Amino acid sequence: MEAPRSSATKANAMAPGLYLVATPIGNLRDITLRALDILEGADVILCEDTRVGGKLLAAHGLKGRLERYDEHAAERVRPKALALLAAGGKLALISDAGTPLVSDPGYRLVLEAIAQGAAVFPAPGPSAALAALTVSGLPTDRFLFAGFPPSKSAGRRELFTELAPIRATLIFYEGGPRLRASLTDMATVFGNRQAAVARELTKLHETVVRGLLADLAADPRLDAPRGEIVVLVGPGADPVASADEADAALAEAVARVGPARGASEVAKALGLSRRELYARALALRGQ
Ligand code: SAM
Repeated sequence: MEAPRSSATKANAMAPGLYLVATPIGNLRDITLRALDILEGADVILCEDTRVGGKLLAAHGLKGRLERYDEHAAERVRPKALALLAAGGKLALISDAGTPLVSDPGYRLVLEAIAQGAAVFPAPGPSAALAALTVSGLPTDRFLFAGFPPSKSAGRRELFTELAPIRATLIFYEGGPRLRASLTDMATVFGNRQAAVARELTKLHETVVRGLLADLAADPRLDAPRGEIVVLVGPGADPVASADEADAALAEAVARVGPARGASEVAKALGLSRRELYARALALRGQ
């Protein structure tokens, strides 16, 4: 059974306030019925690009008053938008793709709307970060969204160094031309962790490449790929609590499989150097 969607009913049923409406990240059908209701009922739809917004409305047979709200127009449009909210208006905010405010405009508007006591409603839906996380094969119990890494290598390495100790899957947005350089810096700073590159999700050329960072950095399939990309880096191994624990694990492994294989096992399990562990195993045996 299809839910009725008459514009008069929906517009009247909508409470005044600011609606943050998620829109598709590729496939135009990835939009919720509620998002369509809100876009239909809003007095004004703020959008990054009126052509992109217009296309979305047309694809769903909707008409709406679109107003540009990108980094250039924000300062000029925000006071008008806040005045409309203060007068009891219904305002929708969309971005070109996905969830507004996620690496997209809207944060200041939300902050000031809250400050003036306006209601702010989420209309959740797609976001490239979560879509990529779910298909990455990396741990989903803890994750950190880090947005776009800096464009220069020094800035990227500084950011990655800051993030390296965090035990969570890290999610980055990236563009094709910078992908290789970014993966190379990630492999250098994070070491050889499991990672995934998710490209053009929900679109015709959707691809997900999974593997170790060093392999991805050298993968010819990822040579300046076109389109939109999410890079995900799995958490590193748990840090060794103490040298005593490493010694205990080593002694147990050496007793079972000998110094060479024992050092390898413990190196893998604890993320330590196999060479150093082998030397330590020989020293422990000599004691
Ligand atoms: N607000 C959006 C969201 O919720 O995902 C993100 C906007 S941000 C300006 C655009 C970036 O998101 C792209 O450069 C890319 O990194 C990522 N992205 C957007 N659509 C994507 C898609 N279909 N597949 C992979 N990544 C995508």
